[in-house]
Amino acid sequence: MCIFCKIINNELPSNIVLENDDFMAFHDINPKAPVHILAIPKIHVESFNEVTPSTMKNMTKFMQDVAKEMGIDESGYRVVTNVGDDGAQEVKHLHFHILGGAKLAWSHLSDADPKGKF
Ligand code: 5GP
Ligand code: ZN
Repeated sequence: MCIFCKIINNELPSNIVLENDDFMAFHDINPKAPVHILAIPKIHVESFNEVTPSTMKNMTKFMQDVAKEMGIDESGYRVVTNVGDDGAQEVKHLHFHILGGAKLAWSHLSDADPKGKF
């Protein structure tokens, strides 16, 4: 069982900020911004590649509610999901990073020269 499924099953502790029957949001253990929340579906979905539009529909509203709950909906925030090797996805259970609480830099996206791609 993956570590996020263990968190869902209460086999691993987490600092939950919002939860309903289908989704869970908790603080990232290694925060990269003053607010760094992970929002996940309770069903095991490996990545954004596998998520269905119907799950995403409800997850969108859930993430909007997380931003409100954390008080960053007006000040602004970033939603990120890493996919696969190039996306630097470490945990293979779909999760959205919700980052805010400070003005975020737009950096460290790639070590490759983006000009070479176009
Ligand atoms: P990824 O690189 O897969 O997009 O992000 C995985 C995230 O999960 C990382 O930001 C990492 O800090 C976080 N993380 C890994 N293990 C745990 C854990 O056991 N608990 C919590 N709360 N976060 C975790
Ligand atoms: Zn899982």
